[in-house]
Amino acid sequence: MNFDLTPEQEELRARIRAFAATHVAPDYQAADARGAPRPGLYADLAGAGLLGLRIATGYGGLGRDAVSTGVALEELARADFNACYPALNAALIADVLAANGDQAQRDRWLSPIADGSAIVALCLTEPDHGTDAAAVEMRAEPDGDKGWRLSGVKSSIMLGGYATHGLVFARTGAAGPHGITAFYARLDDAHVARRTTTDVGNRSAGRAELTFDALPVDADDVVAGPGLGFVQVMRGFDYSRALISLICVGAASASLDEAFDHARERHAFGQPIGRFQGLSFPLVEHATYLHAARLLAYEALWRKDAGQDHRLAANMAKWWAPRAAFEAAHQALLTFGQHGWGDESPLGQRMRDVMGLEIGDGTAQVTKLVVARLLLGRDSAP
Ligand SMILES: Cc1cc2nc3c(=O)[nH]c(=O)nc-3n(C[C@H](O)[C@H](O)[C@H](O)COP(=O)(O)OP(=O)(O)OC[C@H]3O[C@@H](n4cnc5c(N)ncnc54)[C@H](O)[C@@H]3O)c2cc1C
Repeated sequence: MNFDLTPEQEELRARIRAFAATHVAPDYQAADARGAPRPGLYADLAGAGLLGLRIATGYGGLGRDAVSTGVALEELARADFNACYPALNAALIADVLAANGDQAQRDRWLSPIADGSAIVALCLTEPDHGTDAAAVEMRAEPDGDKGWRLSGVKSSIMLGGYATHGLVFARTGAAGPHGITAFYARLDDAHVARRTTTDVGNRSAGRAELTFDALPVDADDVVAGPGLGFVQVMRGFDYSRALISLICVGAASASLDEAFDHARERHAFGQPIGRFQGLSFPLVEHATYLHAARLLAYEALWRKDAGQDHRLAANMAKWWAPRAAFEAAHQALLTFGQHGWGDESPLGQRMRDVMGLEIGDGTAQVTKLVVARLLLGRDSAP
């Protein structure tokens, strides 16, 4: 067993850390206050290769493995949690499109994602159906022999305010998972109305509700085939659960590192506050919980790269990491006392930001359900 990154992965980590420190971190809190990313951020992310991490080099991507994608996102999250959303969506959706598209579709779809001309969103959740995603009601009606028309509402779509394209799940058949088809659809179209929401955290990531009013989609933009949206395309999603875990770990680790520095530098009662066990042991515990979450997430990505079933580690990581990150970020803030409470530090924002991913991409309940089914078997699990 080897826990070291390869020299290429170490080089990527160092490069993304340097890029993020210069181009991303300085705007983390200002973007939150504005409620929008800085103009040019997505182009910069694309320029650094962050929107094409696993996209083949022939399409302008970096052609890296899943572990490398996790390394890059963990680093980016240390600088700006919300800048990870375009990279996360691009990683997941490009993976799904590459795995399920034919040659002509890959040729059309992948380069624009890697070069940042297509910003992509995952459009699954609806106002009445989140966890029970197989119940989606958005309709796809045949449109002569040209393709389809999508009608209905998607809610809670991260980057929904900015995305040019969406992986949209709509019903083409009977009730249940086998009646759902996935479409790769243009969103910057008059048939799509967007309403961005005002949120607890992730305020620069443009979470939005999208109303589709008979949006035309070409027959060539069906992913995998009619009726395969849920049963086939959704299989890619364990990958995003591991990546999300590392994004949460990265952001919370930044807060913990700052807390350890503060514990060395701040003095009370004539000594560094780190010398008080009541202060330093909770930090040690949270560093341990975060490290365990990190290892679970990298195990999932390593297994994906090895072509192995990675559902168990990915779903264990997804229920654990956002929770562990939230609690670590909270403890880090308390370590600063009065100096953690103000908006002059990013500590409070990190806490708000990581909390969103206790819900996004599946709550702890649904990911524990997956783990329970894997450990107990379907007949004995909830
Ligand atoms: C920050 C953020 C980002 C998101 N990004 C996206 C995105 O990009 N694209 C997208 O499509 N969606 C996105 N979502 C939506 C997200 O995936 C859903 O909110 C989530 O799946 C839960 O669905 P729901 O909110 O409708 O809650 P519900 O399904 O109504 O659940 C409500 C509560 O009941 C619990 N519950 C439901 N069913 C069960 C069960 N069987 N057993 C036990 N408990 C249960 C849930 O865990 C939850 O606590 C995002 C949400 C957030 C907050």
